[in-house]
Amino acid sequence: MTATDTELIAHITALAKDFIASDENKLCPTCDEPAWREPLIGVSTGDDPLHEEIKAHIGDYYWLPIEAFETAYPDTDATASDLSVVCWVLPQTMETKREHRRSHGFPSRRWMLSRYYGEMINERLARHLVETLRDEGYEVLAPHRIKQWQRFNYVPRGPSSRWSERHACFVSGLGTFGLSHGLITPKGIAHRCGSIIIRARIPPTERPYDTHTAYCPYLVNGKCGACIRRCPAGAISDKGIDKEKCGEFHKWLHNMSRKMYGVDGHGCGLCQAGVPCESGIPRKLLR
Ligand code: SF4
Ligand code: SF4
Repeated sequence: MTATDTELIAHITALAKDFIASDENKLCPTCDEPAWREPLIGVSTGDDPLHEEIKAHIGDYYWLPIEAFETAYPDTDATASDLSVVCWVLPQTMETKREHRRSHGFPSRRWMLSRYYGEMINERLARHLVETLRDEGYEVLAPHRIKQWQRFNYVPRGPSSRWSERHACFVSGLGTFGLSHGLITPKGIAHRCGSIIIRARIPPTERPYDTHTAYCPYLVNGKCGACIRRCPAGAISDKGIDKEKCGEFHKWLHNMSRKMYGVDGHGCGLCQAGVPCESGIPRKLLR
């Protein structure tokens, strides 16, 4: 590791933490409480074979880091090994989780606000990192934010897109998938996440797991299954998530949340609070 590598990831981490510690981080424009807790940061190399495995699993339309990079920088001479993927997880606050835990059948107000205004903060964080690092001379992009990013609704694996923040976080050592398809991180499954790709060789974060489901007891030893019971749409079963059922519930939610909370929220997340993986890795159930 060179001093430059160490300094760069420390610099990016400080940029993200300072942004989330600033007045930008509000649950709503008139709220005096934050939307998110301090971010977790993880890094993977652009040529990590796991990125290839994920592409093979999702479909040809899914971007490898180098493909996203070449889309943003068509004349680049960079290779996959010149790139790093820097990911973050923004954990929900205790107040939001407490309120959401008590909700059954319909998401809580705080959760909806975090999904609506909080996601705007997540997007502004990505823009802030990209603009700051570009001003400093780096070639960098946020794959979800470039105009070629696309969502595909009618593909064999169900609705998906050219880049998955959760999969990027998984490769970058931040967590593994649960039965509900959320990412279980050391700060739990209740979060939003994001990523940038930068032309710099930053040492990757260690992945303290061997499989993509290592932190979900149900998928390891059959214990838990709490998210199945929490889902009001019957979208989670022992086979995982039915994206169509979840999507239908979200369509209904979209209109209802406008009436109830005054926001175009479409984040249910009932499977992410009031469950053993809500705020951390459910280690006791994994034994
Ligand atoms: S609630 Fe239980 S079964 Fe569902 S994702 Fe979390 S740990 Fe896995
Ligand atoms: S987000 Fe809501 S509808 Fe979708 S799987 Fe989770 S609990 Fe069910």
